[in-house]
Formats: sequence, structure tokens, C-alpha cells
Amino acid sequence: MLLRVLRVGVCGTDMDIISGFYGEAPVGSPYLILGHESLSRVEDFGPGVQGFRRGDLVVPTVRRNCRENCLNCRSGESDMCLTGHYKEHGIKGLHGFASEFAVTDARFVAKLPETLSEVGVLLEPLTIAEKGINQIFLMQHARMKWKPKTALVLGSGAVGLLATALLELKGLEVTAVATKPPDSLKAKLVSSIGGTYVDSEMTPLSSMENRFDIVFEATGASSVALEAQNLCDANGVVSFVGIYRSKVATEDAGRVFTNLVLGNRLYFGSVNANISYFRQGVLDLVKIRKKWGGFLEQIITEKVPISEWEKAYSPRGEDDVKTVLQF
Ligand code: BGC
Repeated sequence: MLLRVLRVGVCGTDMDIISGFYGEAPVGSPYLILGHESLSRVEDFGPGVQGFRRGDLVVPTVRRNCRENCLNCRSGESDMCLTGHYKEHGIKGLHGFASEFAVTDARFVAKLPETLSEVGVLLEPLTIAEKGINQIFLMQHARMKWKPKTALVLGSGAVGLLATALLELKGLEVTAVATKPPDSLKAKLVSSIGGTYVDSEMTPLSSMENRFDIVFEATGASSVALEAQNLCDANGVVSFVGIYRSKVATEDAGRVFTNLVLGNRLYFGSVNANISYFRQGVLDLVKIRKKWGGFLEQIITEKVPISEWEKAYSPRGEDDVKTVLQF
């Protein structure tokens, strides 16, 4: 499918790639085109592609099957790839969508209603929360009777804010923590959808130990990730969705593992999202818009034309959440 790209979101992974900590150019290419969070219109497609029309609003998934086509990749779960030889648009071995046109496999493309034309670029970061939260509920219900009431979201970047919205949609009492003051945009966004905002500079994480049924770690900071493990209650679950740098934090490993065992706690990692989470995400974007009006629009804090691309990849202001490049 040939895509005419409308917008591309910028995230921490892009910055990690730029700094050389992460990412891989396609074989034979001396450069990598960035952009894994995107929104496009269908420009054209090859024979055999069904269910799309030219002009449709679409978002492609990020990951493509590994060369061995492992059990999970061939079952539509490349997000659970066994070999690690998968490719990711804009991240690993495949060019991204930060160009006027891009080509991708139509089997990995989700269609969006026109009502999402302003906010559809948030679908990819939303799917990271969709997958983590979906797996939390699947695993917890499989291992016991479970009626969660409280959730803690660590980090109020786009993924953290979108996770807060999804957990609120499920009727949970959600607390979201970040390092910004209570009058910041992030704090206001959390309150606007019924969540409780906590500024970790004022309230240390250690004062919230053993309090939550669900902890969703979305800061990507190793020190916070280590503390996250002590914040869930007995039978609780902690999911991690960041890319953590190694060798930057230490913690009493004995305490962590004893807590894990004595509280029947579940800690797990979750990366990427397959097309099923994109389809679910489209439905949830519609629900979020209906319930909380401009919440999604406000997450997009800056729109930068492609001619000023350098600005989009430079450190942004205090109240930045999601910077978007416009084509
Ligand atoms: C992307 C995922 C990707 C992960 C690891 C994230 O920023 O949203 O799709 O799998 O990075 O490469």
C-alpha cells in the first residue's frame, strides 16, 4: 500500500535512535528514515488488497514478521516475536513514515473514521497501552479471582496519559505520577479525565508502597522501574513498557524478589502491538473523544511543519507532551 503521510509523532524512541543508543538502518542503507507513529491517507494499493479505498485515513503498525516467520509472527503476533529478527518501521531495519510517501504491507494497516483525522496520530502510542493493559487483565483473571479498584500510572508522556484514559474507561480509580508541578498541563490533563495527579517531587514514590492493584510503568527510567515493583499491593501486577538503560540504578534485589513471592505479585514487560490492538485502539479513541472532548487534541502540544523538522527533534518546552511533524 502506498501511503500519503499526513503526520508523524515524535517520541523517546526517536531521540534514543538519534543519540545512537537504539535502532538500525535497513540493510544496505547508510541512513534510517525515522517515524513509527504516523497517520496517512491511502494513495494507492496493489492488486489483491481488499477493504480499502483511496483517500482512507489509516495508520500502519510498526513491526513486520521475522525472517524465520516464527510461530508468533505467522500467527499475527509479531509483537511477541520469538527470534528477535523482526523489523520495525522507523526503528529497526525498515524505513519509517517521516517522508511524503511511504510503502507498507496492507495486512498491517488499520483504518480510522474521519472523526479521528486530528488525533489519529496518537493511535500508535495508544496501542502500547492497549497491549499492556489487555495482558494485565488476561493474566490476572487467569490466575485468581480479581476485582481491581486502583491503578497507578508512572509517567505522563503520551503513553502514560493514554494508559490513564484506558484505565479510567474501565472504571478504575487512577493515580498518575510525573515530575511536573500540579498546575502543569500534564497534571490538568490527568484531572480532566477524572484521574488523581501526583507530583513525585512533592510526594515520594516510597510513600505509596503496596497500595495499587495495577501499576503501569511508562517513564522508561530504570530507577522508577525498580521502585514501581514495591508499589503494587498483594496479588497486584506491574507492567513495564519503557526501554531502560542498563547499569544506571541499583536496588535491594532481595527485597524485590521477596516482595514478588510473598505477595503473589506479577511483573512483566510488554513491547510493541499487533494489528488487533490497533483495531481496538481505534474504537477506544472514539470512546475517549466522546467522553472527554478535547483531551486527545490537548496531548498534541506542538505541530511542526516538515520544513522545520530539526525543531521537532530538539528538546521541547516544560509543557510538551506530543510533538507532531506535519507534511
Ligand atoms: C514503539 C514500538 C516498538 C518499540 C521498540 C516503541 O517506541 O512504539 O512499536 O516495538 O519502540 O522498538
